[in-house]
Amino acid sequence: MAKVLCVLYDDPKDGYPTSYARDDIPTISSYPGGQTAPTPKAIDFTPGHLLGSVSGELGLRSFLESHGHTLVVTSDKEGENSVLDQELSDTDVVISQPFWPAYLTAERIAKAPNLKLAITAGIGSDHVDLDAAIAHQVTVAEVTYCNSISVAEHVVMMILGLVRNYLPSHQVVLDGGWDIADCVSRSYDLEGMHVGTVAAGRIGLAVLRRLAPFDVKLHYTDRHRLPESIERELNLTFHPDTASMVPYCDVVTVNAPLHPETEGLFNDDLIATMKRGTYLINTARAKIADRDAIDRALRSGQLAGYAGDVWFPQPAPADHPWRTMPHHGMTPHISGSSLSAQTRYAAGTREILESFFAGTPIRDEYLIVDGGRLAGAGAHSYSTKS
Ligand code: NDP
Repeated sequence: MAKVLCVLYDDPKDGYPTSYARDDIPTISSYPGGQTAPTPKAIDFTPGHLLGSVSGELGLRSFLESHGHTLVVTSDKEGENSVLDQELSDTDVVISQPFWPAYLTAERIAKAPNLKLAITAGIGSDHVDLDAAIAHQVTVAEVTYCNSISVAEHVVMMILGLVRNYLPSHQVVLDGGWDIADCVSRSYDLEGMHVGTVAAGRIGLAVLRRLAPFDVKLHYTDRHRLPESIERELNLTFHPDTASMVPYCDVVTVNAPLHPETEGLFNDDLIATMKRGTYLINTARAKIADRDAIDRALRSGQLAGYAGDVWFPQPAPADHPWRTMPHHGMTPHISGSSLSAQTRYAAGTREILESFFAGTPIRDEYLIVDGGRLAGAGAHSYSTKS
């Protein structure tokens, strides 16, 4: 029987919800391109309920315990005395969400001899040391596509929020004011601007599709070029790399995984090549941008705005400069954890566990590392240090 350790974010400050703003959520059974949404044999939760926090338990407890497995759920994940570290030594499966990542470092993986499976309940497995997972034959799987559209919606919201100066204008209302000139002196239309995405995978392409009706000029770069039919349909300009794309853009959105090729990509040197007043939206991973270079660029005016929901580390300390830098529209890491997304990634986590316990293959599109190598989605989109 297995021991499953599930690291989730804390319940709401006022306690686990007893009611919700809406009574239901739309049923999504497949994604653009035809991949089916998760297909577990059953679920033991109500779609649209809070599943990603400790009391939500990703809806897994009765399933696991009815099969004789042990489930430990905690939000305590930092430091050697954390529940995560204390429980790791005999854990078979670790489940974690990127919003509240259980950083599975090489040291932690070495201290977990039974560890066979690390599941990302969401997308983005960079909180797992993939080289160590490869070396220790740990399978890494994530619920590919579960929240790609959720993030794409967040990106569009943040682009509009920055360009139109939404948040400072909302603050004027909260403060009881009517200071039109203060609001509009940084407010523009998105129409006609050049918008570029670093990566046009599931999220990047969904962002491009959602922006096309705004009559913007769309650019992208990616390791693999999109089909010509899509380039034509959306009137896309392809650039061979990020450096050659960003000088053309008024808005840049980052939608690539964090891996050795993308770490630190938006540094002082790259930002200096962008048009003065570019808006940068990064909902991918914080470390793709140099923390202090972003702060400097906002203060100098080289960037007109920065928004995103990804930080390093997570949770971000109270004195993280991105909390107080000017012209930012940051949220905590929430874009991929809407109640709608939670329903899908809880179901996907259950599907992965069902396959794992049955000894049947985990869907290839969910795999990042398997059998001591990058596999499935991981082989397509990630790279390793070696
Ligand atoms: P996909 O795997 O569908 O797309 C990633 C794309 O990035 C692929 O097209 C890949 O190229 C491309 N890519 C990889 N390296 C580079 C590079 N060096 N330069 C340009 N393109 C590159 O993933 P998703 O779109 O679903 O997610 C993207 C990322 O967004 C995730 O890895 C995760 O970090 C983040 N994310 C954030 C969430 C949030 O809540 N904020 C939630 C979900 C995801 P190719 O495959 O062609 O080689």
